[in-house]
Amino acid sequence: MSGTLFIVAAPSGAGKTSLVKALIERERDLCLSVSYTSRPPRPTEQDGVHYHFVSRGVFELMIARGEFFEHAVVHGDYKGTSRAVVEQTIAQGRDVLLEIDWQGARQARAQVPGAVSLFILPPSRKELERRLRARASDSEAVIRRRLADSREDMAHAHEFDYIVINDAFEDALAEMRAVVAAQRLKSGNQVKRHAALLSDLLKAD
Ligand code: GDP
Ligand code: ADP
Ligand code: 5GP
Repeated sequence: MSGTLFIVAAPSGAGKTSLVKALIERERDLCLSVSYTSRPPRPTEQDGVHYHFVSRGVFELMIARGEFFEHAVVHGDYKGTSRAVVEQTIAQGRDVLLEIDWQGARQARAQVPGAVSLFILPPSRKELERRLRARASDSEAVIRRRLADSREDMAHAHEFDYIVINDAFEDALAEMRAVVAAQRLKSGNQVKRHAALLSDLLKAD
């Protein structure tokens, strides 16, 4: 039994966190992996919910111990996914979603060839900047850095299986749900999920 690994990436401010939160609330059996980071928490963020917040020293110790499924330096901070969470969830046949950057997405794809990846784009650069400011959680210097980094992030959109444009939020959410549904409806997955039904339907009279 093995679940699907979904990977979602986007430039900062594209709406990834809001879309993923809404997706997880609506999709049963989709588990969100909570990342580790050395970045300080924003005022709205809770340890263990939005991230596991650790010091750079602890993060480096975890790298040395091989505890990350993938890790990268993103906007100057360490970000990483717990190997144990990903491997255990998939082994239980449950789907897991990673909200990570393109560098981490590459590492994840290399280890899980059946992974399904989505990249979220903003409708324009102007709107990306407006959303970063509207979030009102980062300093001007951090916003500048993220805007500068967004070009590099978006240059990797073509490496992903799907691209969703987050213009109208509900439309983007529906498109993400369509990707999840299509993956789950693949015959290889359905045959495993509905093994009892198939065996019953094929029974001799
Ligand atoms: P956001 O972009 O505004 O959501 O800000 P965050 O600080 O939450 O995330 C910053 C970047 O780190 C984003 O590009 C994320 O996709 C990436 N990121 C978050 N968690 C992980 C992770 O576990 N691994 C990797 N590789 N990247 C991550
Ligand atoms: P990310 O995780 O990609 O950095 P967020 O989910 O934090 O992005 O979204 C950045 C800001 O943009 C938030 O204030 C969010 O409420 C807003 N936002 C997200 N999607 C949309 C949308 N489709 N239209 C308008 N604002 C949006
Ligand atoms: P923020 O600092 O705004 O929370 O996150 C900025 C970026 O970090 C986002 O692009 C997000 O996808 C990425 N990120 C968050 N968690 C991880 C992680 O565990 N691994 C990697 N590689 N990137 C992450």
